[in-house]
Amino acid sequence: MIKFEHVYKKYEDNPAIEDLNLQINDGDFFVMVGPSGSGKTTTLKMINRLIKPTKGKVLIDNKNIEDYDLQKMRLKMGYVLQNIALFPNLTIEENITIQPESLHWTKEKRKRVALDLLDKVGLDPKEYAKRYPNELSGGEQQRVGIIRALATSPDVVLMDEPFSALDPISRTQLQDLVLKLHRELKMTFVFVTHDMHEAIRLGSTIAVLRNGHLEQIGNRDDILNHPTNDFVRGFFQIEQNGQLSVKNLLDDGFGTETTEETNSTLLKDDLIGRLATELKNNNGIVIFNDDDVNYKFTTADLLDFLAKEGEK
Ligand code: ADP
Ligand code: MG
Repeated sequence: MIKFEHVYKKYEDNPAIEDLNLQINDGDFFVMVGPSGSGKTTTLKMINRLIKPTKGKVLIDNKNIEDYDLQKMRLKMGYVLQNIALFPNLTIEENITIQPESLHWTKEKRKRVALDLLDKVGLDPKEYAKRYPNELSGGEQQRVGIIRALATSPDVVLMDEPFSALDPISRTQLQDLVLKLHRELKMTFVFVTHDMHEAIRLGSTIAVLRNGHLEQIGNRDDILNHPTNDFVRGFFQIEQNGQLSVKNLLDDGFGTETTEETNSTLLKDDLIGRLATELKNNNGIVIFNDDDVNYKFTTADLLDFLAKEGEK
């Protein structure tokens, strides 16, 4: 468990973070979202001690991070950056095993881990292990960036806008990939983005930052349906063009006609926030009637729709 207690960070005299209090539970997919300059990167770097708080405490399992051995702590924390930063003169396999090598893992063990991880992210090891970074697309390179962060089986993986430089299709594929990895590996993911759609799609817990202040923390439903203030409401509404409704999903080809019975009084003109609530109340499947036709929506439909909207 990671905990911020009354944390402040000033750059010279300028406050970047003010009185931040939050808790990140083990195994969570925790997303920090907010506009540029809101303090997301600063907060993330305080977790792996690249930045030291001006005041306050960051704790891991109730122990101040200052009291851990820095090298050991860093090995338990993977870090994925926006600009992919692979070493151009090393092969993909060598890039992945750079940390394991510094830990003196045997050659066999390093190779096994690299090949297993390549396989896990859909890059055929036979084809990719010996290539150099410039022989991979941006999306493929960022897959390697993610693998590199996973190579030492960390407890926590920190990701700072890892997909923002990618084209929309690669971004959606990599979002799916990190969701899959999170399900399989059961590590804590802390993911920073300025993109509200990405936050909603990925986060089990979402923290909204503005000007160094935590505006709200909650799950998808809390944020979409119970914004605590006008900033959170506005941030989502602006990003969602205000008024996306169930009709927009249908028009985009989401949802299917069904002969199953309705389990909801949802209407075609209802906003997607209501759909999110209904999905939550009905175990992820909503069937509603419009004009003598029954339609079926799943949570996946809503998330894919949001991802598609985010690309516009
Ligand atoms: P975000 O990641 O949300 O864009 P940052 O954490 O990078 O926000 O920045 C928060 C604030 O701190 C911004 O106003 C930024 O200009 C300032 N800041 C960040 N890093 C530095 C630095 N090294 N020196 C001075 N000011 C900084
Ligand atoms: Mg940043």
